[in-house]
Amino acid sequence: MSKTQAYIDRAEEVILHTYNRYHIVLEKGQGVYLEDVDGKQYLDFAAGIAVFALGYGHPAYKEALKEQIDKVIHTSNLYYNIPAIEAAEKLLKACGMSRVFFTNSGTEAIEGAIKAARKYAYNKEGCTDHEIIAMNHSFHGRSIGALSVTGNPHYQEAFKPLMGGVKFADFNDLDSVKAQITDKTCAIILETVQGEGGIYPADKAFLEGVKAICEERDILLILDEIQCGMGRTGDMFAWQAYGVEPDIMTCAKALGCGVPVGAFVLNEKTAKASLVPGDHGTTYGGNPLACAAVSKVFDIFEEEKIIDHVRKVTPYLEKKLDELTQKYEFLTERRGRGLMQGLVVEGRPVGEIITKALDNGLIVISAGSNVLRLVPPLIITEENIDEMIEKLEKSF
Ligand SMILES: *Cc1c(COP(=O)(O)O)cnc(C)c1O
Repeated sequence: MSKTQAYIDRAEEVILHTYNRYHIVLEKGQGVYLEDVDGKQYLDFAAGIAVFALGYGHPAYKEALKEQIDKVIHTSNLYYNIPAIEAAEKLLKACGMSRVFFTNSGTEAIEGAIKAARKYAYNKEGCTDHEIIAMNHSFHGRSIGALSVTGNPHYQEAFKPLMGGVKFADFNDLDSVKAQITDKTCAIILETVQGEGGIYPADKAFLEGVKAICEERDILLILDEIQCGMGRTGDMFAWQAYGVEPDIMTCAKALGCGVPVGAFVLNEKTAKASLVPGDHGTTYGGNPLACAAVSKVFDIFEEEKIIDHVRKVTPYLEKKLDELTQKYEFLTERRGRGLMQGLVVEGRPVGEIITKALDNGLIVISAGSNVLRLVPPLIITEENIDEMIEKLEKSF
């Protein structure tokens, strides 16, 4: 029996079966490659679902974490810690917003964003029956609050009753958003580029229209940048390309490049009139180890000009993917921005292609029901793209 099968057998005896996992056991990584327990190499175009932006085993990143481990891993939010201060300063500098709350995950960032929005409305109006408008086909997480604003009935069904006061509109359809607005609306939440739902970038006119409604009615705009943020689309945050600033932004995934960390970030207006001591907390959130990672990630982005690199390599990836959609009839469309790209697959299961790709030493993932999703480390080269295309075509 292969080592892989032995580990899988053990896993299925102890780990709750909530994922239908692909049959590989990954053990280590270097750059844009991962290796499994049987020594097989994989070119990684998923990056742990848009997490490992800097690639595996980045020397300066590893060194920063080791240094922090030698100092202290955890203290408590009852006290101040230096990595959290530095990480917050760098995050705010990158987005031009006002205050940060660090969390342990994207889901928790969404929870915090929802609470901040409700508290803002409560302070303003003194009542608690406010509504949030979310988008169909969105994804914001699996906790009850985040699930309540996730526009996927299949994920929600068994867990009702969910959080009340949520209405759904269609992404990129401004009229459908307008139709859900009432005097009770306190926030509109959306992903600047929908990820799990199938890689749908927001239209500029849509995002501008939503922002205009929010400003006119003092509704808070929550932009979920958990997947599309941190340089992935060719801007540090995807909304920066649209010139549409959120009132609240959520981050996670590549924020710590592998260390579990997220954040919700408030603009000045929201920070001044929402959460206060006693309103929100977390034991781990913003701990020194996680924040040392965040802080170093921002340093490396600057030193290695990661965003410039994404902008430089994107046209090549888009060109190569467009060639595939021309060449293969079952590939009907390419969608995306920067290094967040999707290929729409018609008439055959996308899971089959992914499994074949794994056999061929390429890691890709899906989004929605029929989209092949490419969210590689941001450091990929044109050579890596050529190798990906070759392996992908072999898998067709
Ligand atoms: C992954 C994701 C989340 C949830 O983040 P977790 O870290 O898995 O809790 C929320 N929103 C978006 C857009 C995501 O891609």
